[in-house]
Amino acid sequence: MTELLMTPGPTLVPLEIRGAMSMPVIHHRTPEFIELFHETTNRLKRVFKTENDTFILSGSGTACMEAAICNTVQKGDKVLTLVNGKFSERLGDLAKVYGADVKVLEFDWGSPIDPALVKEALTPDTKLVTMVFNETSTGVKNEVKPISDLLNGTETLLLVDAISALGGDEFKTDEWGVDLCISGSQKCFAMATGLGFISVSQKAWSAINDNPNPRYYLDLRKYKDAKPTPFSTSVTLIYGLSAALDLIAKEKLETRIVRHQTNAKLCRDGIKKLGFEILPISEDVCSNTLTAVKSDKAAVIIKKMLEDHDIRIAGGQAHLKGKVFRIGHMGSITKEHVEKTLKALEEVMKELQ
Ligand SMILES: *Cc1c(COP(=O)(O)O)cnc(C)c1O
Repeated sequence: MTELLMTPGPTLVPLEIRGAMSMPVIHHRTPEFIELFHETTNRLKRVFKTENDTFILSGSGTACMEAAICNTVQKGDKVLTLVNGKFSERLGDLAKVYGADVKVLEFDWGSPIDPALVKEALTPDTKLVTMVFNETSTGVKNEVKPISDLLNGTETLLLVDAISALGGDEFKTDEWGVDLCISGSQKCFAMATGLGFISVSQKAWSAINDNPNPRYYLDLRKYKDAKPTPFSTSVTLIYGLSAALDLIAKEKLETRIVRHQTNAKLCRDGIKKLGFEILPISEDVCSNTLTAVKSDKAAVIIKKMLEDHDIRIAGGQAHLKGKVFRIGHMGSITKEHVEKTLKALEEVMKELQ
C-alpha cells in the first residue's frame, strides 16, 4: 500500500500530473516545446500575480533561493534577514556564503515577524531584506505588505520565499511590492520535486546587472537572454507543471485558496479537539497550507502514523525536532484526507495513553 503523504512538501501528486509526466520526452529546442514552455511560464505568472520576468529553473526551491541571493548580493552588502524559522534562517546563511554583511533579526519560532522591529533595524544602506511568507518549519504566516511599505521609495530590495504558499494561499507579488519572489513545484502546486520558480522586478534587475559576483548556472541574466532556457530543461517536469496549472485553472485559484483555508481550519480544530496545542502563537497567524503541533511525543506519533496507518507526517526542524510534528494540507489534499489523518491521530493517541 502506498502511504498518504501529509507532509509539507513533497505532497500527493494527482494522477493527471503523473500521467502527463509519462509522455515521451521530446527535444527541448523544438518549436513545440518552446511554445509549451512560454505558455507554462505565462500561466505561472498568473499564480504569482506578477507582470515581472518569471523563470522556471531546474532544481528544487533552494536553487531559486540561491539564485535570488547570488544575483543581487555583492561582497559587503548589507542584508537584513528576518528569521522566525528554519527556512528564513537559510536565506541569511546563503547571503553570508556570498559575502554579505548579514544582520539577523530573529523572532520566536512560532511568532510572526513584527514590522515595528524591522523598521528599527532597517538602515538606508540595506541592500536587501529577506523573509519567508509561509514559514514551513513553524506553520506561521508573515504579512508581506507591512514590510514592503517600509521599503517604499528606497533602494532596498525585498526577497520573499513563498515556496510553501503559492498556488495554495493568497499572494500578490506586484501589489505587495515583492522584488524577488520564489516558489517551487512540490508544495502547493502538487507537482513532483525538481522545479524552482523566481520572479524578478525591474528594481532587482538593476542590482543584478551591476553585480560582479561570480555565478554561472544560476546567473539570471542568462535566463533572461535565453530562448527560452540557457541549459537543458526537464521536459518531463514541464509537462507535469503544465498539467498542474491545468488543474489549478480548472479548480480556479480563488476556489483552491478557499479549499486550503477550509482544510487548515478543519485540521487545527481537530488537533485542538484532541487536546493538542498548535505551535503558532495565535489562530490569525496560522499557515493555510500546514499545521505545526506541539508534542513531546512527536517522534512516536510520527512513527505510529506511518507504521499503523500509512500516513506520513513530518517532524520538527532544528531545536523543534522531537517537540513538534507537522501536517501538510497543501496542493491536492482534500477534506477527506485531513479527516482521515485526524482519525488516525485519534487512534494513535488512544494507544499511547
Ligand atoms: C520547502 C521549502 C524550501 C526548500 O525548498 P526545496 O525544494 O526543499 O529546496 C524553502 N523554503 C520554504 C518556505 C519551504 O517550504
